[in-house]
Amino acid sequence: MFGLWPHQAEAAGLARHGRNVIIATGTASGKSLAYQVPALNSVLDGGTALYLTPTKALAADQLRALEALDVPGLRAAAYDGDTPYEERAWIRRHANYVLTNPDMLHRGLLPGHARWSGFWRRLRTVVVDECHGYRGVFGSHVAQILRRLRRVCTRYGSSPVFVLASATAGDPGAFAMRLTGLETAEVTTDTSPRGSITFALWEPPLTDLRGEGGAPVRRPAAAETADLLADLVLGGTRTLAFVRSRRAAESVALSARARLSDLASDAASRRPPASGTVPAASVPGTDPADPVDPPGPTSGTDPDAGGPTSGTDPDPVDPPGPTPPALTDLSGKVAAYRAGYLAEERRGLERALRSGDLLGLATTNALELGVDVSGLDAVLIAGWPGTRASLWQQAGRAGRAGQDALAVLVARDDPLDTYLVHHPQALFGRPVEAIVLDPGNPYVLGPHLCAAAAEIPLTEEDLEIFGPTSKEVLASLVDDGLLRHRPTGWFWTRRERATDLADIRGSGGSPVQVVELSTGCLLGTVDESSAHTIVHTGAVYLHQGETFLVTELDLEAGVALVEAGTPDYTTFARDVTEISVLESFRSQALGPGELHFGAVEVTRQVVSYLKRRLQSGEILGDEALDLPPRTLHTRAVWWTLPASAVSPLAEAGLDLGGAAHAAEHASIGMLPLFATCDRWDIGGVSTELHADTGLLTVFVYDGHEGGAGFAERGFARAFEWLTATREAIASCECERGCPSCIQSPKCGNGNDPLDKAGALRLLAVLLSMDG
Ligand SMILES: [Zn+2]
Ligand SMILES: [Zn+2]
Repeated sequence: MFGLWPHQAEAAGLARHGRNVIIATGTASGKSLAYQVPALNSVLDGGTALYLTPTKALAADQLRALEALDVPGLRAAAYDGDTPYEERAWIRRHANYVLTNPDMLHRGLLPGHARWSGFWRRLRTVVVDECHGYRGVFGSHVAQILRRLRRVCTRYGSSPVFVLASATAGDPGAFAMRLTGLETAEVTTDTSPRGSITFALWEPPLTDLRGEGGAPVRRPAAAETADLLADLVLGGTRTLAFVRSRRAAESVALSARARLSDLASDAASRRPPASGTVPAASVPGTDPADPVDPPGPTSGTDPDAGGPTSGTDPDPVDPPGPTPPALTDLSGKVAAYRAGYLAEERRGLERALRSGDLLGLATTNALELGVDVSGLDAVLIAGWPGTRASLWQQAGRAGRAGQDALAVLVARDDPLDTYLVHHPQALFGRPVEAIVLDPGNPYVLGPHLCAAAAEIPLTEEDLEIFGPTSKEVLASLVDDGLLRHRPTGWFWTRRERATDLADIRGSGGSPVQVVELSTGCLLGTVDESSAHTIVHTGAVYLHQGETFLVTELDLEAGVALVEAGTPDYTTFARDVTEISVLESFRSQALGPGELHFGAVEVTRQVVSYLKRRLQSGEILGDEALDLPPRTLHTRAVWWTLPASAVSPLAEAGLDLGGAAHAAEHASIGMLPLFATCDRWDIGGVSTELHADTGLLTVFVYDGHEGGAGFAERGFARAFEWLTATREAIASCECERGCPSCIQSPKCGNGNDPLDKAGALRLLAVLLSMDG
């Protein structure tokens, strides 16, 4: 039926023989065909298929792709929050290929399983697409939802094959097993052809601006990216720039256009290229010695329109080669792309990029959702995207069939980005990171055991599906009066819906609703603990790349009111934290000190927020907040040093508190490299003398109730993690500490005290290094 690459055929073949399989390959490698083939085979054999994806937009794209295949007998339908009620009954009864998301599975399909009995009975294939998104607490919830799905299938006599598709991930088989609870074969070889990519690591220069404590501030990654984008477009290089927010996408596109206009009006005296300190590799098409052809197809675009334009060329066949440098104003060839575009707008954008009507595009990674713009000459990435996997995914947009391409990572002003641009070996020639999740977290497991019991009463045999901790968690659910234990099993006997107990996109607790003031529209929910940090009054809140300002956080009502806005600053909540050790689960020697992983109680209070200007990174102010302290039971990794190791340092005049505090900040900044989390998922405490350990102690803890697996990962890789932390501090060129090394924007103590040289000494002692 289809021509398949070998890796697609291998995955399809495994699934056909009843093996669960995860396909973990780069972008543009045709993953969808690899899972569509077994799923469509199930349908053609008279069975059904379930397709899961993290977002509605991806499901809509997938549905379009399926319909285009025109397979006889296929009745595919998306079933999500947008599906009209009148269509739902038809889908339940007749569809044989249902596309949905974990949220809908959790709240709709599983609790209402009886109405889907025909679908479950014939279910042969479950596709879990984009499964690298299921990490941390969200991933742990999805893992439990998939276990509930397996249990419901068993009830209806089916045992579907799971086919998972992921961006490249470390140890994909082990991850798939954690996610589904099933033995899973892995297909990782990417056999689709591609050219080579030249990778440049770009560090923006320090500016004359001064931030907190007089520290120097680097030029923001977005400003540097705009200049690079303009320079590449000027060379006729088709370039995509990835930025964090929709607002940043717009400002990068605007700045690039302004620069191009300036260059055109000032063509005789061309400006020097952007001011990064790491030289970029040669860029295809920018060599001034290239023969100069007339400019490419005329654009017919309104240079002021901003958005993508559909090409005027009625039949753009083969893309023309890179347009050579021209002295004409190229500002009309740069646009911004953001979420929410209609399908035809996206197709127009693809056409314009292919035809050369558009040469530069600044975008949030909303682009990941449905625009096919592989085949560019260059990709700019403003700030570390979080994982090597997503770095390669974004960089993989560059490079037309077999042709070489350029990718540039532009560093942001933080320790991790600084470390990476100075340590290319941390990026290249390394396996991509494993995806971290912890389905056994009792705060995640509990609500899903309730939901499962509400679906079908739980029996002893079911406990195996939910893992070794489920027995203990069930007992506490019975004690709390949530479940009843009878001789035949565990029952949900309450009136409420059990699924309301789990807020799968947050971290348990009662979520705060984020509501747009002018429209009354519910934008999403944030769990209560994160609410203090993310949607406090005055916060700049990003939602799907759009910027909002929080006008009020009402904790009593559980609502954060927001308004769309375009502030020229970002905000960082600052908290003060106390921590106590409940239990050390594991410990080992580390240099002269000790390393622990265990349970802690954290008391955290968000006390103020910092405003930082977007364009310059300048600190605009620190505004006080009045929020109650919160107690968090979570997991932490911590290290201690005995007095015998630290007193010589103190005698040498080193500020132990400042050194430990600096090491803590930098290590929080670096943990995401080892544990696949955001620095906002974790927190830290450092002290010269901790009451529970009686020693100098630095803690790093999971910022989610019950833990999320990040601190555990830090424990497992502590030596590498702390070595990298020390190198990050050492490689920053600042004198006494700055946001690129030891300052943290969320420090509740105003980054005081901090001792950069002391942190280097302290970590050297801990790691038994000379220094
Ligand atoms: Zn620094
Ligand atoms: Zn701090």
